[in-house]
Amino acid sequence: MNSETNKLRIAMLSVHSCPVGNLGAKDTGGMSVYIRELARELCHQGHTVDVFTRVHDPADPQIIDLGEGARLIHIKAGQEMDIHKLALYSYLPDFACNMERYRKDNDLEYDLVFSHYWLSCWVGKYLQIWWHVPHVTMFHTMGAIKNGIGIGEEEPELRIVTEREAVQDSHRIIASTEREKEDIIRYYGAIPDKIGVVPCGVNRELFQIMDKQEARLKLDLDDEKILLFVGRIDPLKGVEQLLKAVSRLKDTANPRLIIIGGDDDDNDAIKRLKEITEEMDLIDRVAFKGMIKHKELPLYYNAADVTVVPSYYESFGLVALESLACGIPVVAADVGDMRNIIRQGETGYVLPHNNPEGLADKISTILSGTGNIKAAPVIRESIKRYDWSNIAGAIARELYKVSRQQMTAVA
Ligand code: UDP
Repeated sequence: MNSETNKLRIAMLSVHSCPVGNLGAKDTGGMSVYIRELARELCHQGHTVDVFTRVHDPADPQIIDLGEGARLIHIKAGQEMDIHKLALYSYLPDFACNMERYRKDNDLEYDLVFSHYWLSCWVGKYLQIWWHVPHVTMFHTMGAIKNGIGIGEEEPELRIVTEREAVQDSHRIIASTEREKEDIIRYYGAIPDKIGVVPCGVNRELFQIMDKQEARLKLDLDDEKILLFVGRIDPLKGVEQLLKAVSRLKDTANPRLIIIGGDDDDNDAIKRLKEITEEMDLIDRVAFKGMIKHKELPLYYNAADVTVVPSYYESFGLVALESLACGIPVVAADVGDMRNIIRQGETGYVLPHNNPEGLADKISTILSGTGNIKAAPVIRESIKRYDWSNIAGAIARELYKVSRQQMTAVA
């Protein structure tokens, strides 16, 4: 730590998922947004942040400026192409060694390692030993919970073991919700005091209220009831539930559903959703838009009447925050931080049971205007505390806790 300014030099790890990768693709979603925004804001607050990720493509420049002085640094490990997450495990020692070489060659020093996701936690564990610095971890999602839900691919034992070890070995764990904290304790036996809870943030400069008609005009959308889904196309996201809800609304509100997310790797999953759409005779009511650039999403949120989060599992749920920042209400399953993000009946609804009937019921209440949903500026105001400046400040306080502990222990 710079003793004069009291500012931290942070090495962030995002080994498998590139923070500037295509959002909405199979392995790139909320965590990438989180790392990018947090790194930028921490730098804005005077800290130094280098984010390390694997070279996925020979065309990747070694260093990318993330803004405010935050740097994304590409490190070689394995072939310079997309490698499945599990196969990547065997290249983690290469990543750690190449990263250490890069650090030495460039005379870099860090006060702590901040690892994101289990693969990074493995690398962080070695850096923590080599550098004698604290190691802070954030899982974003956990293998044991995913397996407990039992929807989608089974997570390997390797992941569970690595996460359990990271819980034991790291100096501090950041959870984005109280629920996640409880899960880390229940599944991996963490000491409660070791876990700090800090929610995720939203870029309220990007996600702003716009004129709905103008947004629709720009997107070539008609003046009709519009529902929006945004996210990776993953069975855990529960898009099938939403399609069933839309089918139930066909004879009443008859909304149009816009589905954003999914890339070529998701062909099978998207094909399956399109088949269901056809089976339910909804083809002309559902539009699959594929991945949309993050900076274009405000237009879509603003064009919608309701954003729906029908997930079986979210570690946090950034999409809900983004929609609310645009003044658009959210109907969501009771996952992630929805209970805190959404004000029940005022800025949307959180369903106690994630089912198509419940989703259809609450969507219909909002579309018909019969509930007590507030006006767009009130909805936007309700999530003001999630501004990245507040969230990065809270994260920095968590990081200081271990940097002080570590310094006291060494002294
Ligand atoms: N996203 C995007 N374009 C897409 C799909 C998703 O920019 O085509 C972004 C979305 O705006 C959000 C993130 O990806 O910021 C998804 O985060 P969330 O926490 O909702 O889900 P996760 O990916 O963490 O499961």
